[in-house]
Amino acid sequence: MGEMGAKRWNFGANQTIDESCSQHVRGFLDLLADKLDSNDDRSVIPLGHGDPSPFPTFRTDPAAVEAVCDALRSAKFNHYSTSTGLPLARKAVAEYLSRDLSYKISQNDVYLTAGCHQAIEVLISTLAVPGVNILMPRPTYPMYDSRASFSQLEIRRYDLLPENGWEVDLNAIETLADEKTVALLLINPCNPCGNVFSRQHLQKIAETASKLGVLVIADEVYMNIVFGDKPFVSMAEFSEIVPVIMIGGISKRWFVPGWRFGWMLTLDPHNIMKDSGLVRSLANILNMSTDPTTFIQGAIPDILGKTKDDFFSSKLETLRECSETCYKEIKKIPCITCPYKPEASMFTMVKLDLTLLEDINDDLEFCCKLAKEESLIILPGRAVGLKNWLRITFAVELELLIDGLSRLNNFAQRHSKKKP
Ligand SMILES: *Cc1c(COP(=O)(O)O)cnc(C)c1O
Repeated sequence: MGEMGAKRWNFGANQTIDESCSQHVRGFLDLLADKLDSNDDRSVIPLGHGDPSPFPTFRTDPAAVEAVCDALRSAKFNHYSTSTGLPLARKAVAEYLSRDLSYKISQNDVYLTAGCHQAIEVLISTLAVPGVNILMPRPTYPMYDSRASFSQLEIRRYDLLPENGWEVDLNAIETLADEKTVALLLINPCNPCGNVFSRQHLQKIAETASKLGVLVIADEVYMNIVFGDKPFVSMAEFSEIVPVIMIGGISKRWFVPGWRFGWMLTLDPHNIMKDSGLVRSLANILNMSTDPTTFIQGAIPDILGKTKDDFFSSKLETLRECSETCYKEIKKIPCITCPYKPEASMFTMVKLDLTLLEDINDDLEFCCKLAKEESLIILPGRAVGLKNWLRITFAVELELLIDGLSRLNNFAQRHSKKKP
């Protein structure tokens, strides 16, 4: 023992990693899970993260399950993948995404990844040339921030404006960008804000990005998950104006995040990204990273082709009902306001009025006490870049959501300043 204590070992923590992860959603969720009271008999209500797949209402389509079983049984997909993905899966994704567009995507523009997560990882690493910077939204999906700070890519933040339906602050973008700005990240439909951008607004963003000489990263993992009046329009429609890298996948629309299948598309009709060398670097980085599982790729033509429209419309109906219930119940709670009724994705951002609360000083304390006293998990806004806001997931079983929001209301009442 004494020998061991005296001996010097040459390895240790990697501070860059530890610091990049410190503000991560999972970190906050772990922290809140620690606060739960094990003596509370009630079940925990998880409105903190967006994975409705465990709930029976959000079970994936049987056609998708069949597709995976068939791919496995065929014994045709036990081999290694190619680094950009199997041609039959790339083709299926290109055709599927072209269905809703005014032009046809080429399968050569499609790169298959282990979920969007891996697309984010390789894309941010590729963009992170020393000295450059990237424009990211506030609030945001913080995986981008973690990867950027790990790769020492400077982040410049533009605001999404709640009073304008969470639209991009376009003026800010022009002031933030300089000749070292390489990309602008846009998440549409939006996690965490629950809005979707109009065609006109997307066009303005594309024009601004083009003027500044930056490409647009369009995270469209919630593509078509819209249930308000505004339709979903893909940034792909504006790739004539500005080069677009689109990120998407099946995790959210099919409710199968565990299947780890996503895609990254280079939409570059004028070969701007190609001529710059970026496309070659993306292909190279994919060569040295993991591939999505081959049998999921083998199943993709059937997953995309055989899932009936009924499946999507019934899930959207459920999400609409959940989002409306959420909005209605939040309105009853005095210290919380929702500036914009959710119309897309699985989340809404709501603002805390701390002046109405007696013994709570910020969003983190609010969420910690809420976990402890009500066995209810909600994400503090700071986890997505907005302090003293909350991000609420409404994509859970409706009864559970109603129960959760009533616990939230009780909690808020209990901690409200008493009127004299
Ligand atoms: C969930 C999510 C992802 C990650 O998607 P996976 O395909 O499950 O890796 C990426 N971007 C946003 C905005 C998300 O909400």
